[in-house]
Amino acid sequence: MSSEKNKPLTPLVLRFHHLLCLPLFEGKGYSDGFSENMAGIKRRAESTEENITFICDFDSVCKGCPNKSEAGCLLNEDGKEKTEDKDRYIAGLLGVEEGFSADYKTALKTAEEKIHSDGFFKICGECRWYRAGLCRFDKWRDKVEKIIKT
Ligand code: SF4
Repeated sequence: MSSEKNKPLTPLVLRFHHLLCLPLFEGKGYSDGFSENMAGIKRRAESTEENITFICDFDSVCKGCPNKSEAGCLLNEDGKEKTEDKDRYIAGLLGVEEGFSADYKTALKTAEEKIHSDGFFKICGECRWYRAGLCRFDKWRDKVEKIIKT
């Protein structure tokens, strides 16, 4: 009988806009389960060179989120820009297509080169975590720099 420890890891899949959220994540989330899952993904992405597939749909982070529903992300419902549109916008800035694959640091390096303060604000400006003061462009850049250098 194989133990949990020996179970192969499910490949990491990230939606593009989570390249902005993950570096800034400091433990606060939509539920305890969400935060635990996101912290594990952040640790894993930062400590390995495995390839991640980037998409514009539910991903490994969404898996643990109470906003994930059959009808889509519940955050779409209050008239905000659809989360999928945010992903497509970031993919466009990066100059890549859905299904792009790269290790986390390489993807972050590209994001750092291509995403400027106006693009960051367009995606994050309406988000509750931005409004709560947890996320800022300069802070994102600092975090990305640190991750890339480790
Ligand atoms: S389900 Fe929506 S709110 Fe939850 S992590 Fe995914 S995109 Fe974010």
